[in-house]
Amino acid sequence: HAKRGGKSNCVFYNPDMDAAGIDRLELETDLRRALERKELQLYYQPQVDSRSGSVVGVESLVRWLHPQRGMVSPAVFIPLAEEMGLIGDIGNWCLHQACVDMVSLKGIDTDLSKVAVNISALQFDPRLIEQVDDALARTGLDPRSLSLELTEGIAVESGDQPLNTMHGLKGLGVQLSIDDFGTGYSSLGYLSRFPLDELKIDRSFVDGVERENQQAALVAAIIAMSNNLGLEVVAEGVETSEQFRHLTGQGARIFQGYLFSKPLPLEELHEVLRPGRFASKVMDITGVIET
Ligand code: C2E
Ligand code: MG
Ligand code: MG
Ligand code: MG
Repeated sequence: HAKRGGKSNCVFYNPDMDAAGIDRLELETDLRRALERKELQLYYQPQVDSRSGSVVGVESLVRWLHPQRGMVSPAVFIPLAEEMGLIGDIGNWCLHQACVDMVSLKGIDTDLSKVAVNISALQFDPRLIEQVDDALARTGLDPRSLSLELTEGIAVESGDQPLNTMHGLKGLGVQLSIDDFGTGYSSLGYLSRFPLDELKIDRSFVDGVERENQQAALVAAIIAMSNNLGLEVVAEGVETSEQFRHLTGQGARIFQGYLFSKPLPLEELHEVLRPGRFASKVMDITGVIET
């Protein structure tokens, strides 16, 4: 293990370092090279409109195909990239690649109107405006087809900087979404102050929504609030027909989760983009389809 690093970056034996520590060091060394070795790949998870049964959006989710370990979860390597100061480069790669892939889908018959890109709180500073502008200019993607998923964490930061950055991004014409809504520690006040387009209800609220009154009450309130504020609402992590039926009954319209599809590589995405692809599935569960 400890021999792996070459002359320039040898790993010294530290008696305090346990197996997990060595493992992490290796992962860090490998992550530094992942971008140049082209080991990162974007997967796309469909977002289904229950009115049409069509896929109207896709969320890009990064994957690291490690040569020895296989697929490493972003839940593992994104926090690592943030600590190591690599999130800027990785985030920028994801942003650009998602735009490239979205442009490549132009011309196929689909109701798809946007691609969502996750933005780390550490990426969220005024330079992001330039990076997004650059990705749009280099790929020719219509700004309205790009949605940025921000976390509540950025709203915790005081001062005008987050607000100014959001206005700068809105000025480019992109959409702004709050990911994992309800899991952060921020106050609700930002919802009316920030120029947002969408809220994503976190999976932890969707889980149990059909059998637990508490969960159901929270989700109903989030959907009603979103509607009143003019925000689109996306239900995340929808896995069962029961959850879906309950959420449509509460007025939710856009759904992302294993019930419809897991995240897919670009090549496998084409098949699910056919208009009305999930219409019969929606019909089977709710008994209604609007178009
Ligand atoms: P997220 O943005 O909230 O993404 C949703 C996560 O839930 C994804 O996990 C997705 O695969 C998973 N998921 C979707 N539907 C279901 C479902 O029905 N059931 C269950 N159990 N899970 C479902 P994934 O792809 O492992 O990503 C985890 C997190 O890593 C993301 O959470 C996001 O915070 C982060 N991440 C992923 N890609 C990127 C990226 O390109 N940039 C940044 N900064 N973060 C990313
Ligand atoms: Mg997300
Ligand atoms: Mg989320
Ligand atoms: Mg999440």
